[in-house]
Amino acid sequence: MSGQSKWSEKANAAQRARPGALLKGLVGLVIALGFGCGTSQSDSAPARRAKVLLIGIDGVRPDVLAEVQTPNLDALIAAGAYTAGTTTTTPSVSGPAWSSMLTGVWPEKHGVLSNDFTAPRYDEYPDFLSHLEDVRSELTTVAVADWLPIMELDGRRALVGPSIDVREALDGYELGWAEADRRGVDFAVSQLQGADPDATFVYLGNPDEASHEAGSIGEEYREAIAMADAEVGRLVRAVQGRGTLESEDWLILVSTDHGRRADGGHGGDSPEEMTGFILVSGPSADDVIEGPTYIVDVAVTALAHLGIDPPAAWGLDGRAVGLRRSPGG
Ligand SMILES: [Zn+2]
Repeated sequence: MSGQSKWSEKANAAQRARPGALLKGLVGLVIALGFGCGTSQSDSAPARRAKVLLIGIDGVRPDVLAEVQTPNLDALIAAGAYTAGTTTTTPSVSGPAWSSMLTGVWPEKHGVLSNDFTAPRYDEYPDFLSHLEDVRSELTTVAVADWLPIMELDGRRALVGPSIDVREALDGYELGWAEADRRGVDFAVSQLQGADPDATFVYLGNPDEASHEAGSIGEEYREAIAMADAEVGRLVRAVQGRGTLESEDWLILVSTDHGRRADGGHGGDSPEEMTGFILVSGPSADDVIEGPTYIVDVAVTALAHLGIDPPAAWGLDGRAVGLRRSPGG
């Protein structure tokens, strides 16, 4: 049985067992068995095709996330690495933060300082999918989001650039956020099942909006986080059900753009607002993430998994986190 199948097996096993200590034990056991480690492949084994799925969930506080039953995220953590101490942008709002997550640079470079998007410099500092299209146009890139400014900006270049192969923009305000997330995931699942995407970004907006509407981090917010976890599960199952999975090396990244205060608001520089998380999962993921992490690390990690060492000219501010080192690399 290949490493990939064990990945699924391990994820399923982890899904049945919640406690973190047990999950850690499972990870250690499977690593001891030589599972899925790129360095353990013999020289004659054909290289598997690296693929990335980045799932971004808006406004999820890691300390609340830890209190909600999230079996699908737990399974991903068990098959990889997780940190609950990722620093986001100042201010801690979606415009700058999503821009920094996808471009790998801080707001002083991409120029988005609020949710107004008055003067983005995405031409100079594009999202990582656009970088991929520039250097490896043969790769298939996919972006799905229900917060429209990520996808469309009144005729100007939006965060997700024009060269992305497959794009689906939904309006969460119009559809309702839970429904919009569901439809966005439907679309992404159809791509993962029926097409051959190499790098995919899926945005889920419901938790942030649910907390804003409730004006708290209570029941409504927690329910929305649980629903987002279920959507994550649908995406993971679509990946794990691919007929070509055995010849692929999937890295699943999950992160958030900012935290929030107990009243549901955010934008300030308190630890509750500034702290998010990064989850790195799959056969090429390490079991720990070393050192402090920042939201700009997400894009660089995705690029690194796809074999791209960003040229200095790109001016990226992040570093690759949570990946095993390849032999000699
Ligand atoms: Zn918000």
